[in-house]
This record gives sequence, C-alpha cells and structure tokens, in this order.
Amino acid sequence: MNASTQEQAPVLIAGGGIAGMAMALTLHQIGVPCRVFETVPDLQPLGVGINLQPNAVRELYELGIGAEQLDTIGIQAREWALVGRNGNDVYAEPRGLLAGYKWPQYSVHRGQLQMLLLREV
Ligand SMILES: Cc1cc2nc3c(=O)[nH]c(=O)nc-3n(C[C@H](O)[C@H](O)[C@H](O)COP(=O)(O)OP(=O)(O)OC[C@H]3O[C@@H](n4cnc5c(N)ncnc54)[C@H](O)[C@@H]3O)c2cc1C
Repeated sequence: MNASTQEQAPVLIAGGGIAGMAMALTLHQIGVPCRVFETVPDLQPLGVGINLQPNAVRELYELGIGAEQLDTIGIQAREWALVGRNGNDVYAEPRGLLAGYKWPQYSVHRGQLQMLLLREV
C-alpha cells in the first residue's frame, strides 16, 4: 500500500453504538474518511439512563454537540445523592458545573444519545 492509497483508505468502524458514532464524528472532524459497520439493520433507541461525565461532555462539545442538543435528550446533573429507604439523605455531593468543572454532567438515555449521534453522523 503506497502513501496515496493510505490517505484514501477509510477507517473501518465496527459497531454504530455510542463509541462508533463518536469515533466517526471525530474522524470526520479531522478529515479522515470512515465507514461504520453496524450489525443491526434498523437502529432503535435502546438502553437505560446513563451519566455523561464532564470529560465526555467536553468531547461532545468539541464535536459541535452543545448544550442546546444535549438538553433535548437529558438533564444537567446537579447532585449525586445516596438516599435512605425512608427518603433521608445519607450522602450527597455536587456534580458537573456545581462541582467546579468547566463542563456539565448530563444524565441522558443511552438510546436517545445514540440517535442524536446517528443524526449528526
Ligand atoms: C446498565 C448500564 C448502565 C450504564 N451506565 C453508564 C453511565 O452512567 N455512564 C457511562 O459513561 N456509561 C455507562 N454505561 C456504559 C455505556 O452504555 C457503554 O460504555 C457504551 O454504550 C459503549 O459504547 P459502545 O459503542 O462501545 O457499545 P454499544 O453502545 O453497546 O454499541 C455497540 C454497537 O455495535 C453493534 N455491534 C455489535 N457487534 C457487532 C459486529 N460484530 N459488527 C457490527 N456491529 C456490531 C451493536 O449492534 C451496537 O449498535 C452503562 C451500561 C449499562 C449496560
């Protein structure tokens, strides 16, 4: 494989999940062609609620996915709290911006995040 062939050869990404989609967007951002191979013919927004820590949100912001979009699929987490059976606070600590990070922490649905990334890709 010569240098010019290497430049044109796309990166092959196995799986159109959160990681695959984020990788595709990153490669697009730096001008590297890629192809995503997904085993599911029709992606559905499956999954549970997950937390995007500030370092992950920073990466999404860098990819052009800002608060306006993330606010449509989740909420900015203000606090992590451990609550007893009777509702009394056992322990709590601030998260995201309130914890001093430059970026918020988001609680989102995995499937909705995947669909957002898919639309961007
Ligand atoms: C209950 C639960 C809670 C979680 N909570 C958090 C959290 O709070 N914060 C957090 O950051 N993470 C959390 N995670 C982890 C997070 O969901 C995963 O790290 C993330 O989804 C991994 O992304 P991925 O793209 O590697 O895999 P996935 O999102 O699972 O996507 C993999 C994709 O690859 C496809 N695929 C599989 N095999 C092949 C193949 N052979 N060829 C082609 N395509 C294939 C699948 O169909 C799928 O679309 C949680 C996970 C679970 C299960």
